[in-house]
Amino acid sequence: MQPLLECKNVSFAYHGIDGETQALSELSFSLKDGEFAAVVGPSGCGKSTLLSLLCRLEEPEYGEIYLHGKPLCEHTEFHIGYMPQRDQLFEWRSILKNVMLGPEIRRCADGEHLEFVEHLMREYGLWEFRNKRPGELSGGMRQRAALIRTLALQPELLLLDEPFSALDYQTRLNVSEDIYRIIKREHKTALLVTHDISEAVCMADKVLVLSARPARLVMEVPIRIEMKERTPMKTRNTPEFKDYFNRIWKELNPDVGKKEQEI
Ligand code: ADP
Ligand code: MG
Repeated sequence: MQPLLECKNVSFAYHGIDGETQALSELSFSLKDGEFAAVVGPSGCGKSTLLSLLCRLEEPEYGEIYLHGKPLCEHTEFHIGYMPQRDQLFEWRSILKNVMLGPEIRRCADGEHLEFVEHLMREYGLWEFRNKRPGELSGGMRQRAALIRTLALQPELLLLDEPFSALDYQTRLNVSEDIYRIIKREHKTALLVTHDISEAVCMADKVLVLSARPARLVMEVPIRIEMKERTPMKTRNTPEFKDYFNRIWKELNPDVGKKEQEI
């Protein structure tokens, strides 16, 4: 089956007056329809840059990105949803007005989109808060609202850039349960950037491990956990979880074990 997304030997550098910052180097991977991949890598390695290329804020210098087998640059209309680190909800708008921002900007805030957004808000416990302002909602509800806003235009591919990093640990666990459930139930293909290995293992179907800058793909780890109705929390409690975690942790921290042996 043709992958939904394919990156082939993608390289990218930022050029400034101080010189060049090589951010990505010959990065290749693909994502199947409905697949959930997580990207982990050291801070500053190029993870957000990868998302910028996928939503065409930047263009690759070398290599090619394909969506449904066609180069991304040849798509005139492509639906990629991007959820940033902070929820970026506007305080002066109600939750419903925040969530309808995408359709409003595209001038398609019509019955069909409103109906879809209402369905999502009812399904995921936000409908009764539709007239509240973002400041009146908990951190978890705000993240759910931000995700529904991203889903409002029915994107084929969902990009999430460290969406839980501003939340405290407890909220983070709960929100990752909610977001996982929404993404799976709505059958979305998603790429989640995170610096948290446990979050990556418990949510994703596969984890892409990147090297320090410039980011190269050093390992692709399929997460195979046999269970009925998998959830992040249930995954955390499996024996496989620890094995996957350790494998990825060692790849990202190759010198730590060596130092311990030297001591
Ligand atoms: P990550 O998301 O993995 O932390 P980024 O993709 O944000 O890393 O950044 C990768 C590298 O590119 C970093 O060294 C960063 O300083 C640099 N960088 C990011 N954005 C820009 C930019 N707009 N101009 C110049 N350098 C940038
Ligand atoms: Mg980043």
